[in-house]
Amino acid sequence: MKLLADAQRHVLSTVRLLETIRVPIAEANGLVLADDVPAPHDVPPFANSAMDGYAVLAEETEQAPVTLNVIEDVAAGHVAQRTVVPGTAIKIMTGAPMPLGADAVVRVEDTHQDGAAVHINHGVGQSENVRVAGGDLLAGSIVFEAGTRLTPHHLGVLTSIGVGNPLVRRRPLVGVLSTGDEVLSPEATLEPGKIHDSNRPQLLALLDELGVDSVDLGIVGDDAAVLRSALQRGAAGADVLFTSGGVSMGEYDVVKAVLSETGDVALWRVAIQPAKPFAFGHVAGTPLFGLPGNPVSVVVGFEQFARPALLKMMGARKLFRPRIPATLAVDVDTDPAKTVFLRMVAELEGDTWMARPAGGQSSNQLTALARANAFGVVPVGTAGLTAGSRVVLEMFRWPESRTEQEVLNGG
Ligand code: AMP
Ligand code: MG
Repeated sequence: MKLLADAQRHVLSTVRLLETIRVPIAEANGLVLADDVPAPHDVPPFANSAMDGYAVLAEETEQAPVTLNVIEDVAAGHVAQRTVVPGTAIKIMTGAPMPLGADAVVRVEDTHQDGAAVHINHGVGQSENVRVAGGDLLAGSIVFEAGTRLTPHHLGVLTSIGVGNPLVRRRPLVGVLSTGDEVLSPEATLEPGKIHDSNRPQLLALLDELGVDSVDLGIVGDDAAVLRSALQRGAAGADVLFTSGGVSMGEYDVVKAVLSETGDVALWRVAIQPAKPFAFGHVAGTPLFGLPGNPVSVVVGFEQFARPALLKMMGARKLFRPRIPATLAVDVDTDPAKTVFLRMVAELEGDTWMARPAGGQSSNQLTALARANAFGVVPVGTAGLTAGSRVVLEMFRWPESRTEQEVLNGG
């Protein structure tokens, strides 16, 4: 058996970076920056007011209450024409540039205006309620480094520095194929001996979540000739191929035979549970992930091999899901020969993350995975863990966890 890390090293070492492209900011969410991004100007670009109020000379308000003469009004988006000199103030709105002369803003709540006179009730110190130029970003500084995966907030920042078409790497296109004479499409009526295809919908949705494009290559029965041509067609039209099924020890696994003769694909037994049987290689130069058939194994194989590889192709520096420490609520038995991925529900109880198995842990029992938000990762060499012991969780989902009632009641 191959250790998980060795299998991951092999897969990741073969990955090639996709080409760089410029995309409009509206299409960049989830993509990865291909270059460091410097700030071409300060953010904010000019000193401006943090409050609605009056731009003043701070020194003059030391003796508050004082009365000043309002010489102009300036709203956000406009520039004051006059200079604040002793005895004067300029009425200013949040976000408007600081007028020349002024060095602080008195909040409107601390004033009372009467015609052209404003009574200042509370004094301000220098720079009070002023947002300085460059207070968020300085011109020339590196805002984000190459390898950063863009979130909506990154898009906001890029826009603030005028980067409307960031340089990223393009989305990979993944072809997804299910195999097996027993596998029926979701809309087909079940017949004796047949099951519905759980793997394709999961994989297509996981890819969608990752911001990766996909082509649905359908279901191919256990027929070598049909599979061979489906793989060749798939390889020609995609950057990566996923198959599921047909890589275990069964006698009728034509997939194994076709994969090894059609491409340069190796069949592995990886020391993990689930997802031990796994094939990886290339068909006509296209990387192929031969995922196992069982639906939970498919997801574990996707998470541990395919997802990090796709992120690497996209240029990301960080490839793996976040891990947190948690406390086991119950005893669990695991195979010491393998890294075991338990499907768990992790919940914060007080200050502690508590982890409980989400249901049946067989690789065909998909409902537990749907209920779970984390994999409990039990390393090789551990035969089980007792309640109260520490377990490492790999968070594959951070779902909403508080109801309307809980929050409105102060939760
Ligand atoms: P295999 O390695 O092809 O023998 O598949 C292992 C197990 O996974 C068998 O019980 C298959 O019926 C099941 N399986 C294979 N493909 C799928 C699929 N697309 N959806 C649900 N179960 C599947
Ligand atoms: Mg099969």
